[in-house]
Amino acid sequence: MKQFVEEILITEDEIAKKVKELGERISLDYKGKDLLLICVLKGAIMFMSDLSKEITIPMDMDFMAVSSYGASTQSSGVVKIIKDLDTSIENRHIIIVEDIIDSGLTLSYLIQNLESRKPASLAICTLLDKPARRVSRVKPDYTGFVIEDHFVVGYGLDYDEKFRNVPYVFIPKAEIIK
Ligand code: 5GP
Repeated sequence: MKQFVEEILITEDEIAKKVKELGERISLDYKGKDLLLICVLKGAIMFMSDLSKEITIPMDMDFMAVSSYGASTQSSGVVKIIKDLDTSIENRHIIIVEDIIDSGLTLSYLIQNLESRKPASLAICTLLDKPARRVSRVKPDYTGFVIEDHFVVGYGLDYDEKFRNVPYVFIPKAEIIK
């Protein structure tokens, strides 16, 4: 993978340590509650998988897929549900698990959509936060890493469906991004 990497931003070890911390916090905060983690596909898949293993209380998981950037690197602001949840979230404590918050447009749409289904509570857990480009006022409850305004891939995040399998987060070389 070296030939595609401009800079490794977050290493495997750093991710593992942070995910453990987040899992511990969530386990304490949701003790005794009916917790449902909602993974936003596909970017949050690695994070969801590792995070859920660090949660030490009973919990369920469900998956949602929304339209992504495709092969572009900017959000269009138009969000479409490609796959909806299988379960009802009414009166349940839900945490939306995201890979990255950039403009915040995807998440504000999701929050609005899920709030209308009357969960007992709704929180946001994101691996990465890029506040520099925020247009919508969304604030995560649990954040892995705050990063600067770079386009990043790896650990679930893709460029044109590639690099999701890389176990660290990196800035790809400019010549790869068309
Ligand atoms: P937003 O709506 O907040 O602008 O974008 C959210 C979605 O855009 C994320 O869930 C992610 O799929 C994608 N995205 C935003 N920034 C990046 C980035 O730096 N790299 C990659 N690979 N995807 C990103």
